[in-house]
Amino acid sequence: MIKLNDIHKSYAMGSSKLHVLKGIDLDIHQGEFVSIMGSSGSGKSTLLNILGILDNYDQGSYHLGGKLISNMSEKKAARLRNEMVGFVFQSFNLISFKNAMENVALPLYYKGVNRKKRNLMAMEYLDRLGLKDWAAHMPNELSGGQKQRVAIARALISQPKILLADEPTGALDTTTSYEVMAILQEINQAGITVIIVTHEHDIASMTKKVVRLKDGLIDEVIVNGELADFSSQYAREIQSV
Ligand code: ADP
Ligand code: MG
Repeated sequence: MIKLNDIHKSYAMGSSKLHVLKGIDLDIHQGEFVSIMGSSGSGKSTLLNILGILDNYDQGSYHLGGKLISNMSEKKAARLRNEMVGFVFQSFNLISFKNAMENVALPLYYKGVNRKKRNLMAMEYLDRLGLKDWAAHMPNELSGGQKQRVAIARALISQPKILLADEPTGALDTTTSYEVMAILQEINQAGITVIIVTHEHDIASMTKKVVRLKDGLIDEVIVNGELADFSSQYAREIQSV
């Protein structure tokens, strides 16, 4: 489903460059539940944004569902993104002047679905996330956990193959974090590939596969609590010692 090969990414920093990703190799199969860990500034969001076709990479290759994702027009990128990817963020990113139902329906609005149909579908997704009674409420009337559930419903309404979540529990208390993780587990069990970014060990341990970023490289992959893989970059380095 996802195949990254020697991915590099730099940001311009005045006259110099900040080399954030220095050769990422990563395979993620359909239906996996993966977390990306690493200290602040290690490039987790950069990697997730590349996976979600929100950002370009400089070097290497990214195949998504067998398709090479290289520099393309924003229009084409947006079409592929809408077809394949749902996004959830730490800060929920709900539109403050739209109610829960309208927020969930938004992706369908951009697809040109008529109001009646998109509201009907939004209600169905709100219902799945236990929020039917909150449909008419504005974001500022919802708790953090409810806001994140609205955001998840909005990410799911376009029926993505992959759900990407950047620190989805970062703004939530412990109990609510586990509730949100349980929802993500359910979504994963329904067949959607789920990839989250987190710096919390307890949260990461709820996923099957943990990928740890360090100094712009994947320094280890842990599957079911066991070390499964060094990145090929590290393997090359170890071999050359
Ligand atoms: P993380 O999510 O692991 O905290 P990020 O991927 O957000 O890390 O950022 C990695 C590094 O790249 C940080 O040093 C950050 O300041 C820098 N960075 C991120 N986005 C940009 C940008 N658009 N322009 C310049 N530097 C950026
Ligand atoms: Mg980040």
